[in-house]
Amino acid sequence: MADAAECGVRVMCRFRPLNEAEIIRGDKYIPKFKEDDTVVITGKPYMFDRVLPPNTTQEQVYDQCAKQIVKDVLGGYNGTIFAYGQTSSGKTHTMEGKLHDPQLMGIIPRIARDIFDHIYSMDENLEFHIKVSYFEIYLDKIRDLLDVSKTNLAVHEDKNRVPYVKIKSLFWFLFCSYNDFLVNFVDMNEHSSRSHSIFLINIKQENIETEKKLSGKLYLVDLAGSEKVGPSEIRNLMDNLTAVFSFLQKTHVPYRDSKMTRILQDSLGGNCRTTIIICCSPSIYNEAETKSTLMFGQRAK
Ligand code: ADP
Ligand code: MG
Repeated sequence: MADAAECGVRVMCRFRPLNEAEIIRGDKYIPKFKEDDTVVITGKPYMFDRVLPPNTTQEQVYDQCAKQIVKDVLGGYNGTIFAYGQTSSGKTHTMEGKLHDPQLMGIIPRIARDIFDHIYSMDENLEFHIKVSYFEIYLDKIRDLLDVSKTNLAVHEDKNRVPYVKIKSLFWFLFCSYNDFLVNFVDMNEHSSRSHSIFLINIKQENIETEKKLSGKLYLVDLAGSEKVGPSEIRNLMDNLTAVFSFLQKTHVPYRDSKMTRILQDSLGGNCRTTIIICCSPSIYNEAETKSTLMFGQRAK
């Protein structure tokens, strides 16, 4: 397993196909794809860890963007996957997709399926506790999407002035199969394109024989349309989430250099894995917004 020094941000870039309105309007298709990591827009190349052209399937997106993070989270790390891009660039398609369509389902239902497959493939001494929560941040207000009576959850600060959300005050539910998961997920509210929606999966494992414990958290974030909120606001949100992570993990931070911590790193949660998926329209109509989205992605590296 990688150690904290290797904790980096992976930036992926996905282009959706031209949509019906764009085709009817006769919009020009502008991206040119080079190798598997470069997209060229009107002569200017943009490089990412990987560029996913419009014919990339949901399964391929999952394999490239999420599969490894899920493995890491099951191994006791924390991870985050962000989708960033203008409204209708394919963020929700990428994160959620069509939940009941095996081809078109997105990252979140595939993650749930992989986690359940993993659980059922493990030996019986392992006990899993999985909780999910789903909330959105809109104009700095946090709304619980699983309990809509909670519309303005507080952000607290720890004694080091690091902000955090009291996640336990969100409504948690425990689900016991993939189908339970889907049913609950379908019941969740549609979120506005002005809000950031955050789906959090919290996995705790215990080996009943050895009492060894592992826990990992995975944040799946469908950011507000990038044209609706300025890049600086997005950056603040990212900083906040990073701060939430460091708060959750801080038990081991002071001991980073001790051998004990190195040995315990797995069971203490370890470092985080972050992937940003930059979502883009291929139409000339959105060229300016696409370029600014691509620039944001390059700066995130
Ligand atoms: P966003 O969440 O960024 O506002 P959506 O994910 O809702 O955008 O996508 C807008 C529309 O385009 C939806 O109808 C969605 O199904 C479709 N779409 C997005 N990405 C793709 C894709 N890669 N392939 C096919 N259709 C897509
Ligand atoms: Mg959306």
